[in-house]
Amino acid sequence: MGLEEKLPNGILLASVEKLVNWTRKASLFPATFGLACCAIEMMTTGAPRYDLGRFGMEVFRASPRQADLMIVAGRVSQKMAPVLRQIYDQMAEPKWVLAMGVCASSGGMFNNYAVVQGVDHVVPVDMYLPGCPPRPEMLIDAILKLHAKIMEDPLTPGRAADMVGHRTELLPS
Ligand code: SF4
Repeated sequence: MGLEEKLPNGILLASVEKLVNWTRKASLFPATFGLACCAIEMMTTGAPRYDLGRFGMEVFRASPRQADLMIVAGRVSQKMAPVLRQIYDQMAEPKWVLAMGVCASSGGMFNNYAVVQGVDHVVPVDMYLPGCPPRPEMLIDAILKLHAKIMEDPLTPGRAADMVGHRTELLPS
């Protein structure tokens, strides 16, 4: 008989890693950071109709120090790139980035010198969401996929730092 079968009802067994990741994914605080038209859909997603509170994350934080999820909603201009990076650096660890829409993911139709051709040139991206703009249901789906990814994250310090170190060379000058 296994240990789980010997335990009384109401006792759950899980690894510390799973428990920590479960609390993290169930209490993501997005930074308030809308850049363009995609931000309208992001704001709609935060409205009562879509009830983001079901996933423990209806509160968008005005301070990056209280946020651990950056939803990059819209195209990133070259001028905005250093600001975006500074906000990312100020966010609490561990932190995640979701590129919302084709502009944030790859520059989209703005294939020109003024727009960063994908926000992963500035910060590490955990989840890419296609669409122009993605509907709130698509954003919620991407958030749930990010939840699944967070559940598999190893509990090693400096996870984000490792990824950032890998990509900072791509920062626009
Ligand atoms: Fe606007 Fe479409 Fe770009 Fe989103 S993907 S910022 S909706 S142009």
